[in-house]
Amino acid sequence: MVHFVGAGPGAPDLITLRGKELLEQADVIIYAGSLVNPQLLDYAKPKCQIHNSAKMTLEEVLDVMRQAEKEGRVTVRLHTGDPCIYGAVREQMDVLDEEGIAYDSCPGVSSFCGAASALNLEYTLPEVSQSVIITRMAGRTPVPDKESIESFAAHQATMVVFLSTSMLEELSERLVAGGYTKDTPAAIVYKATWEDEKTYVCTVGTLAQTAREHQITKTALMIIGDAVSASSYERSRLYHPEFETEFRDKKSDC
Ligand code: SAH
Repeated sequence: MVHFVGAGPGAPDLITLRGKELLEQADVIIYAGSLVNPQLLDYAKPKCQIHNSAKMTLEEVLDVMRQAEKEGRVTVRLHTGDPCIYGAVREQMDVLDEEGIAYDSCPGVSSFCGAASALNLEYTLPEVSQSVIITRMAGRTPVPDKESIESFAAHQATMVVFLSTSMLEELSERLVAGGYTKDTPAAIVYKATWEDEKTYVCTVGTLAQTAREHQITKTALMIIGDAVSASSYERSRLYHPEFETEFRDKKSDC
């Protein structure tokens, strides 16, 4: 059996209880060493076999899983954040399906949630933005043409940009070409929830300069949109005294 587990964004106590229990039971752990906090490996049994996938190919990862399966051992494949975001899990699952190896998934706290917590942000402020666009710039890995930064920028929704810290001049230009003004609020969150976490609130126009000034070159998320520092927004209807829900009657005296 293989368990795909989300490690969370960094702080070792941000893994789920289920994820921690799976780590404690695992005979083999394959962890994404470039971003998973190694402190999570302290949860492993003393005899657990540990592999760092940052140094492995997909084929090598699959070989470790196959071998463990042959020996009736439990494998945990530990991915950073939540495995469903840029986790490259599907290509592993497809091979496991072909070979009849059972697996399941345990979610984790994605770094885009860790970044919001670092800034005490609500991405979906009423009347400001009700959508979060998760995307990345095309780099060594392409992005489909129909998902250009410009086309997403046109929505003026909250945008969280992964995997793009080394391309911030271009990111700013494309955000502006798509419709954001240069003074639209933005933020850079480096290593959200890690001990050396850093947060910088800036604007679309100053993203690159801010990263340069603070030597941020990787492991960061860029958050763009008025939700980053909106001073005005509508209060939520859900908690409004005039609003009735399945769980609460209207407070007619308000
Ligand atoms: N599955 C992960 C994302 C993996 S892609 C998740 O759900 O978070 C790797 C990218 O995620 C990094 O290049 C960076 O942009 C972002 N990232 C991962 N952990 C981060 C953290 N703690 N703080 C800021 N960005 C992070």
